Amino acid sequence: MDNRILSLKNFLDGAVSGYHAIATLSDELKNAGYQLLSEASAWQLVPGGKYFMTRNGTSLMAFRVPQNAPKGFLLTASHSDRPGFKVKENPELKNAYVRLAVERYGGMLMSTWLDRPLSVAGRVLVETEEGVESKLVNLDRDLLLIPNVAIHMNRQANDGYKWNPVSDTIPLFGGKDAAGKFATLLEEAAGGKVLGHDISLYVRQKATVWGLEDEFISSAALDDLACAWCCTQGFLNASESDNIPVLCVFDNEEVGSSSQQGADSDMLQNVLKRICGALNLDIYQMLAQSFMLSADNAHAIHPNHPEFADPNNAPVVNQGVVLKFNANQRYTTDGVTAAVFRKICSKAEVPVQTYCNRADIAGGSTLGNISVTHVSIPSADIGLPQFAMHSCYETAGCKDAVYMMQALQAFYSTSLTVENGNYILK
Ligand code: ZN
Repeated sequence: MDNRILSLKNFLDGAVSGYHAIATLSDELKNAGYQLLSEASAWQLVPGGKYFMTRNGTSLMAFRVPQNAPKGFLLTASHSDRPGFKVKENPELKNAYVRLAVERYGGMLMSTWLDRPLSVAGRVLVETEEGVESKLVNLDRDLLLIPNVAIHMNRQANDGYKWNPVSDTIPLFGGKDAAGKFATLLEEAAGGKVLGHDISLYVRQKATVWGLEDEFISSAALDDLACAWCCTQGFLNASESDNIPVLCVFDNEEVGSSSQQGADSDMLQNVLKRICGALNLDIYQMLAQSFMLSADNAHAIHPNHPEFADPNNAPVVNQGVVLKFNANQRYTTDGVTAAVFRKICSKAEVPVQTYCNRADIAGGSTLGNISVTHVSIPSADIGLPQFAMHSCYETAGCKDAVYMMQALQAFYSTSLTVENGNYILK
């Protein structure tokens, strides 16, 4: 297996929650010599310095200061969260068995969660003498499962069944004797008294590479951890340019981004302001020479249902990175930003495909159009073509993941200047 795909697979396997994803990306940055900055301290930045910060343990921004006077920011934005089920407070539900009450997070394909081993992972807040301590937790075993109802009792199961989260998707935890045991398991894993938790279900099946030529990769949370990983690799492997490269991974994209750690928060703006403040740069001049790529996956033309795709803008898995267009600004790409991205990709010999929604299908939204309302800079929406978006086990292409890493490395290595509306890319 290509090392780049192996690294992606390992990342996906460890990223059992957004907290775990950001912890792994933080380790990756630390190992590459990046210094963790606290939002609560003054930032002293020097030319050649490499830095990152996190918020809530689920969002992250990293950047490098070039040796030469920087001209603007080159940013990518991806997201750490995925649709799924969050464990409720007082979760145990008792009937003939003990089940765990969960709440939907985002819009998922509900049926995909049934009949497969599940567990829970996330963050717990443990009581200490002085206060509370935040800890990652992963009950790393086949612990839960949501059993289907047999076809004999639900004859409409194959005729467009409407899934109800109150009754249909409650995971089974144990027999009657399991009452009270979930809290104990959590406290044991946390190593103390749990005063709060943010834990969600995750699927136990590891990522796999498959197909005649091992050309497909399937995993939980390909949307958008595959892009988060490709952005991080492109960021780390880029050569120095005259711009400040900035890597952003935000939480809560799947529920509209409006949280303290989402793309609709002050995080992006604050970090860019603080960089400019510490380096004595004029933020307005910097923003006027900046460019953003919002990297979130795109729908590939479906092998069984090609009718859902636009006739001329239907990306095929393993045929290149996708540029996403939407006239109503759900995606930020316009003629200018598409041209800049195509130019960068052609230099890097990365094929580019285009995506538009079929004109009568609304489609989804993403990060770019939300980020640019806070920091208004030219932006393009890109992504990996994938199948089964928001299934708990999604599928994309191995070649596309490598193309994405190459495209983003080339992007972050570019020196970009804007003169009279024209872009100069070196
Ligand atoms: Zn996404």
